[in-house]
Amino acid sequence: MSVVTRPEESGLSTQSQGFAIVVDGLRKRYGSLVAVDGISFRVKEREIFGLLGPNGAGKTTTVEILEGLRKADAGRAIVAGVDVTNDPQRVKSLIGVQLQASAFFDYLTLVELIEMFAALYGRQVDAPAILRRVDLEEKAKSRVKTLSGGQKQRFSIATALVNEPRVLFLDEPTTGLDPQARRNLWELAQSIRKDGRTIVLTTHYMDEAETLCDRVAVIDHGKIIAMDSPITLIDQLLARGFRRRRVEREANLEDVFLDLTGHELREA
Ligand code: ATP
Repeated sequence: MSVVTRPEESGLSTQSQGFAIVVDGLRKRYGSLVAVDGISFRVKEREIFGLLGPNGAGKTTTVEILEGLRKADAGRAIVAGVDVTNDPQRVKSLIGVQLQASAFFDYLTLVELIEMFAALYGRQVDAPAILRRVDLEEKAKSRVKTLSGGQKQRFSIATALVNEPRVLFLDEPTTGLDPQARRNLWELAQSIRKDGRTIVLTTHYMDEAETLCDRVAVIDHGKIIAMDSPITLIDQLLARGFRRRRVEREANLEDVFLDLTGHELREA
């Protein structure tokens, strides 16, 4: 059975070709609180798209609607060709969602966990190859609690890759990681995009969004207040006359840290 919505089934899907995600007029309220206030955006195939915004802006609610985990009150969203607002179950086999590492059973090894996730999708997978994809092959027989922070995040991405998703959702993937592990994770995200997948990234780190994202949407109070490539948004700010009060030095403390401790990952 095809899981892709046929154009005749949905007016929106006829406009969704070339786009991994099409969102139109999405709304969600919790009681009297409007969490998502009529947002619309499109994410191109193979794009790394960032969702930025202060705490409580409505990012998680938006992403959970796209993942089919939460029902919108109004509007439409097509993800990987599936109308998630009509059929939230069908999208789940087409997307990957990175879970927090604390969510994993600790009595199973990494290779057993990958096999368990694959079984949930009714798939047989080459678990060592998936672990190799995220540079964890040597940890195949380890348990999650023995991994470093960066390894845990890479493992959670590995579990999100078992169904070869068209769209991968990464929720603050580098929070708490050291500078070397953050860069390592950025490289992994870029290589996953090279495999032909689309990535939706939620982050509070602007340097991360600037490095990784082709485009970002800035959400505040449930509305998109800006959406473009990072460089275009920066140029627009400068064109409005913005200037930093203090001229930046050509290096920062992170450069000092990386120069002192090296760029190599610290995870034996
Ligand atoms: P953060 O950066 O802190 O993760 P966010 O941008 O992801 O924030 P959301 O989690 O989507 O924001 O929350 C948007 C608003 O909706 C917030 O005011 C939040 O308190 C509220 N909210 C979220 N989930 C619920 C819920 N299940 N019930 C009631 N209110 C909720």
